[in-house]
Amino acid sequence: MKEIAGNKAAGGVAQENTEASFVPTRAVRDLWCKVYDSFRGEFGEAVFRSWLKPLTLQACYHGTLEVSVPTRFMKDWIQSHYAQRILEMCRAESAEINRVEIVVVQTASPSSPVPEEKTSAVSVKANQNLKTVDPFELSSPFDPRFTFESFVVGNPNALAHAAARRVVESGNIPFNPLFLYGGVGLGKTHLMHAIGWAMKEQAPEKRVMYLSAEKFMYQFVRALRAKDTMAFKETFRSVDVLMIDDIQFIAGKESTQEEFFHTFNALVDQNKQIVISADKAPSDLTGIEERLRSRLAWGLVADLHPSTYDLRLGILQAKRAMLGADIPGPVLEFLALKVTSNIRELEGALNRIVAHADVTKAPVTVESVQELLQDLLRSHDRRITIDEIQRKVSEHYNIRLTDMHSARRARNVARPRQVAMYLAKALTARSLPEIGRKFGGRDHTTVMHAVRKIEELMVEDAQILQDVDLIRRSLTG
Ligand code: ADP
Ligand code: MG
Repeated sequence: MKEIAGNKAAGGVAQENTEASFVPTRAVRDLWCKVYDSFRGEFGEAVFRSWLKPLTLQACYHGTLEVSVPTRFMKDWIQSHYAQRILEMCRAESAEINRVEIVVVQTASPSSPVPEEKTSAVSVKANQNLKTVDPFELSSPFDPRFTFESFVVGNPNALAHAAARRVVESGNIPFNPLFLYGGVGLGKTHLMHAIGWAMKEQAPEKRVMYLSAEKFMYQFVRALRAKDTMAFKETFRSVDVLMIDDIQFIAGKESTQEEFFHTFNALVDQNKQIVISADKAPSDLTGIEERLRSRLAWGLVADLHPSTYDLRLGILQAKRAMLGADIPGPVLEFLALKVTSNIRELEGALNRIVAHADVTKAPVTVESVQELLQDLLRSHDRRITIDEIQRKVSEHYNIRLTDMHSARRARNVARPRQVAMYLAKALTARSLPEIGRKFGGRDHTTVMHAVRKIEELMVEDAQILQDVDLIRRSLTG
C-alpha cells in the first residue's frame, strides 16, 4: 500500500480534510486509474466497460471519493454488485479513503442548489486561508469518452461541431465567446470536453479550464467566505481558454453573475478564448442580467437541434463498435426509433442491453429489448394514441381522416396511411394486429410492410424523413 498519510504537502490522496480537496487532485486521479485496472483485471473487459467505465470521478473530500453515473439504474446496480469491491480496491491504494459515494449526475438542472454538505463544509472552514489555487485543480477533468473522434456529426449538430473545431484549429480567436446551446443530452458537454482534449494535443502549453457554472459559483462562494477573492480572480484570469458549462445555473445568482461578467470581460480584453454552454439561446436566458446576456451573444451562437433518426442510429452504431458488443442492426434501429428524447437516454438504453446480455448470455433481439426496456419505452409511449396520430398525419398531408380507414390505394392517401402506421408502431405500445384493426381492419402483415417501407424511405427520401420528424415532434413535443 502506498504511504500517503502525513504527506500533505506532496498532494496525498486525502490532503487536508478541507474543501480544498473537493476537486480530485492528480494523486486521486492516479488512484482512480489504478482502480480501473484492478477492476478490469478482476471482472473482465465486458463488465468493466458496462459498469466501471461510465463512472466519472467527481470529487474527493473527507475521505469520501465521489463518483457519478448517468442513471439511477446504473447507480443501483453498481451499488448492489460492485460498490464494496470498488471501495476495497480504493483502500488498497490508499487507506485514507473510507467511503465511495455514487451519485447520479444527469445534467445540471437550473434549480439544483449547491450541495448542502459542501456549503456547510465551507462555512466551517471559512477562516482558513486558501491561497493561490492552481487552475488545473479548479478545472474539472475531461471525460476520456468525450472526444471529437467519438462525436458523430449529423445535421442537428453540424454547426456546433464545426464551430468547436474552429476554436481548436484556428491559431487566433475566431469568435468570442463560442456559445453552444440546446436541450438536455444533445452533446454540449461532449463538445466542450472534445475542445479540451484537442487543445491539450495541439497546444499543450495553453491553460485550458473547464467547469460547470455550478462549480464556478461554488468556488466563488468559497473564495468569498475565505475572504480570498483575489486568488480566485487571479486564477480565472490567468487561463488561455475558459469553458463554462450550463451557464443557466447562475440565473438569479446576482453576485456570481457579476463576478463572471468581470472575468468574462477581462479574458476577452486579453484576447483569451471563452466557450459557454446553456440550455437556451442567450436572449432566452431568464434571470440573467441584460448586459451579460448581450455580451454572451457577441461571438458565435451555435445551437444543437434535437436528434434525428439518422443521427441516433449513427451514434448507436459508433457506440456498438466502441463497446465491441454483438448487437444486431434491427435492435439498433428499434432503439433509434423509440428512444428519441435525448442521446444520454439512448446510450443508457444501449448500456443496459449490453450489460444484460453480459449477464444472461442470451442473444439480443428486438423482443428481448422490448421486454428489458419496458419502463423506458412506456414513458416514451405516454398518452399518444393512434387516433391522434391519424389526425395529425391527415392534417399534415391534407387528406381526409376517413382515408386512414378507407380501402383507397391511390399513392397520395396510401403513403400518408403508411406513415401513420409507422408512427403508431413507433410511438405507441400497440401490437401490429391492434394497429391493423385501427386502420380499417387491415392485416398485421400490411402494417409490418408499411413500417418497413417507411423505414426504408426515411433513409432514401429526405422529404419523408422530414415529414415523419415533423409529425413526430408535433405529437411528442
Ligand atoms: P448535454 O451536455 O448537451 O446535456 P452531453 O454532451 O452530456 O449532453 O451528451 C449526452 C451523452 O450523449 C454523452 O454521453 C455524449 O457522449 C452523447 N452524445 C451526444 N451527442 C453525441 C454525438 N453527436 N455523438 C456521440 N455521442 C454523443
Ligand atoms: Mg451538459
